[in-house]
Amino acid sequence: MYPFRLASRDYHPADSVISVGDVLIGGGHRVYIAGPCSVENPNQIERIGRAVQGSAHILRGGAYKPRTSPYSFQGLAEEGLKMLQAAGQLLGMPTVTEVVSTEDVELVASYVDMLQIGARNMQNFALLRKVGAQSKPVLLKRGMAATIEEVLLSAEYIMAEGNSQVVLCERGIRTFETYTRNTLDISAIPVLHRLTHLPVIVDPSHASGKWNLVEPLAMAAIACGADGLMIEVHDEPDRAWSDGEQSLKPERYRELIRSVRRLVDCIEGE
Ligand code: PEP
Ligand code: MN
Repeated sequence: MYPFRLASRDYHPADSVISVGDVLIGGGHRVYIAGPCSVENPNQIERIGRAVQGSAHILRGGAYKPRTSPYSFQGLAEEGLKMLQAAGQLLGMPTVTEVVSTEDVELVASYVDMLQIGARNMQNFALLRKVGAQSKPVLLKRGMAATIEEVLLSAEYIMAEGNSQVVLCERGIRTFETYTRNTLDISAIPVLHRLTHLPVIVDPSHASGKWNLVEPLAMAAIACGADGLMIEVHDEPDRAWSDGEQSLKPERYRELIRSVRRLVDCIEGE
């Protein structure tokens, strides 16, 4: 017996399929989420959105940034939400963005199609309860020092409030290795698939912190059975307001997705 119930495969043997707008995730539906780390201005999010439109299902962009330093750019807040919403509507793409505090949950949910809980908030139980009590799907990122069981218990907090639309995201964990920003825990993918019916996607951008490692980690994640990817893309990475070092230029992102699609065809034997 595991200490989680609603998230457990014993409780719900079939893969869950989560809907974000008209995009399906899980049960054989792979999702590609792309966009900048931060929304910077209306033109930037629209330009990057347009550049990834044909190779991403969902547009991402942070408006509330949980930065390690209080002096780093913290996001454009509601103005950023409006810019992300406008770009998503214009391009016909559902949107995902992070919510960092309980007071903002309703506001954020009124602008986007999916709410992200970031690694730093994976065990913010009040926030988990709050996103569990609203109806938009939730992208729950693994905490940087969280065990697999702890991720599943965080999902359980959301589901126990009535929201079963949860997608898990492995984004690298802290280890003794400092060459990469984090260490991608590739084994978390098959382990989670065994323990839970919830879809599992991978964020190779935050896992590596280096743009030139994003493609190999993305390929490894898909080969390991991930239900999708979330990748940071910026058309001027050197000038990005956050996470430029790990952002792919749009053309590299599109090439990566072409490679991923060839890999999927191999895996599925088409
Ligand atoms: C993000 O996706 O922008 C982010 C801050 O990721 P994480 O919470 O995984 O660090
Ligand atoms: Mn980022």
